[in-house]
Amino acid sequence: MYPLIGPKYVATKKSHLGINTTLHHWSRCNIPFEVDGKAILPKKYTPYDRNAYGDDPEVLAQALSEVVIDFKFNEFQAAFVYYPTIDSMGHKYGPNAEETIFEVRMVDDVINGFLNDLEANDLASTTNFVIVSDHGMSDNFNRVRASLGTPTFSTFSF
Ligand SMILES: [Zn+2]
Repeated sequence: MYPLIGPKYVATKKSHLGINTTLHHWSRCNIPFEVDGKAILPKKYTPYDRNAYGDDPEVLAQALSEVVIDFKFNEFQAAFVYYPTIDSMGHKYGPNAEETIFEVRMVDDVINGFLNDLEANDLASTTNFVIVSDHGMSDNFNRVRASLGTPTFSTFSF
């Protein structure tokens, strides 16, 4: 019996669904989760590695390419792909900064390629594609944000 809470790959592997999940660059996807005394991992995963990722959207494109291949040929039905750079640019430069907008455009191009790839492989009509974020951002010029340790002052909040 698989629990309803826990890592995404555990929830999708519930026995009555039998969904095979692949995770790319997802934090802690390489740490086994115990279910009924048995340690399980996703069927396929690429661990998160900030150093390997850098700010290269080509890494995202490669992961999405693998998802299409896995959906078409390798009996996977769910995939989770993490890409950190829009968030990190927003934190570093602000939500409306040129650097952040540039990154959004790069990712938009990568996603366009992914959607075309799904279409070319007859997967578009059977694939749900969802983009999520852990939080939003807004410019906020009059707020001061303090963190544990050294106080930080920011021109935006999140
Ligand atoms: Zn963030």
